[in-house]
Amino acid sequence: MLADIYDVVIVGAGPIGLATAIGLRKRGIENILVLDQTRAFRPVGQVLDLLPNGLKSLRYLDPHAYEAVKNAALGLSNSQPSNQKQNTPKSSPTWAFRNLQGQIMRSMSVSFDNWFQEYGEGRVSLAWYDLQTTLRQQLPQEIVRANHRCINVVDEPENDCVRIDCVSDTTVEANPYAHWNDNKTENLDTNSPASVTNKSFRARLIVAADGINSTIRRVLYKDSFYQDYAKPEYSGFAAISCREVADIPAEVEAEIEATFLQNSRVTTICHDEVSRKAVGEMEDTRMMLFRSRITNQFGYLIHFASPLAALQGKSGSSLINLAVKVFEQAGFPDVLKQLVRLSPPENIEQRPYYIHRAIIADSDTTPIQPTWNAGRVVLVGDAAHGMPPFMAQGANQGLEDALAVVALIAQIAAENNWNNRQAITEAFQKYEQLRRPWMAYVQEATLTRHPHSSEHNWQQYSQQIYGRNVEQVMKELANS
Ligand SMILES: Cc1cc2nc3c(=O)[nH]c(=O)nc-3n(C[C@H](O)[C@H](O)[C@H](O)COP(=O)(O)OP(=O)(O)OC[C@H]3O[C@@H](n4cnc5c(N)ncnc54)[C@H](O)[C@@H]3O)c2cc1C
Repeated sequence: MLADIYDVVIVGAGPIGLATAIGLRKRGIENILVLDQTRAFRPVGQVLDLLPNGLKSLRYLDPHAYEAVKNAALGLSNSQPSNQKQNTPKSSPTWAFRNLQGQIMRSMSVSFDNWFQEYGEGRVSLAWYDLQTTLRQQLPQEIVRANHRCINVVDEPENDCVRIDCVSDTTVEANPYAHWNDNKTENLDTNSPASVTNKSFRARLIVAADGINSTIRRVLYKDSFYQDYAKPEYSGFAAISCREVADIPAEVEAEIEATFLQNSRVTTICHDEVSRKAVGEMEDTRMMLFRSRITNQFGYLIHFASPLAALQGKSGSSLINLAVKVFEQAGFPDVLKQLVRLSPPENIEQRPYYIHRAIIADSDTTPIQPTWNAGRVVLVGDAAHGMPPFMAQGANQGLEDALAVVALIAQIAAENNWNNRQAITEAFQKYEQLRRPWMAYVQEATLTRHPHSSEHNWQQYSQQIYGRNVEQVMKELANS
């Protein structure tokens, strides 16, 4: 019998791994460890919207963690952003969706209280790093270990466990799928000679929360039926963003303000029903236009459909040219093209969006559902079903995963089924049966954006996703 076998090792100290750890501890499962490849926890990542379904799940996982996250988000509203905070629409009371002429097509409140009244839970915005830090602070320091990059997992049936092999203190390879720039954050210490140390851990169960470029997913799928789905697939959509456009002529600024922002901090500009039909595949082009909270300058984020090759190798001026071309094809007004042309090349960035589809449907064959579990290992969050952020559901859906997986692991613990492979398999299959249909629905909504196409569709989507009764879902899961 081996000593030092953890009940659960969680790989990835992102929001979903940490929320899982918090939920397990809350249910008395304390023999756990969270490993992360980052050399040290540093400000990285973008601003996230946590919406009612994510917040309901977090509250159910642990009311203290929920309160801490809520306070971190709402408490920041009057202070300096910790990371791109100026991009968040949080302090804008409403967020208008306007057509290319600037007319409002739809407008939604972004106030916590209004959402609370409507869906039984509010919404908050906070930077990924602030969310990570707040969740990390809910856990004893010694159980969250940075500088442990998981490179392999190996089933050890003879020991009733699975082994996790990690390397430490080495240069982490650039991650082309990440929503932050690993090169900036991970390689700060490359002047010092790289000393690689290997370390292995053993656990009854592994929760793989290692993000969209998941190593564990690749290990599980290697040489299996699912090997084509090991790496994320390009979603067909990309973003070009500019933090800030300074020094723009007064008449351009005045026209943009009068037509689109109209005293608000943020707006989304996209096609309406009529113009959408005229532009074919460029109908998906949309621009989130905002004013920086710090400098009051305009900034923007353009989402558009594009082949991956069109983005490759582009930065600075060539990205500006691409954005102008995208706007021309989509029939966007001249004043917005002018704004793009005025963007400082050093402020402009691109981001292709990737996806792990929950269901791969092809009319000729039976739909494929890439597995989210194998033996003692379960995938959660972006590692299972990462997707573009158009409906702001990545972390929110991940929190729903965390809740389901925590409840099922708590049942394994309560029934002392740590060594019962069949019970473990059944538990993880229940997780998949619960979560996969929702993920397929949310991914479809994300890629087609059908909830935004009419008020009726928005209401239907919102009631299904935000209005869901999490307690009821948990009861049904327990009885399934
Ligand atoms: C521009 C943008 C905007 C977004 N906006 C929203 C939004 O408004 N609302 C929303 O809900 N979602 C949003 N998302 C999605 C959201 O960021 C992700 O869904 C969420 O961060 C996923 O959490 P996670 O914990 O599964 O993975 P991640 O956040 O990716 O965390 C994974 C963690 O695993 C670690 N890791 C990776 N590999 C290894 C390894 N081999 N060994 C050890 N550790 C490892 C990483 O260092 C990281 O800490 C947005 C995404 C983008 C790109």
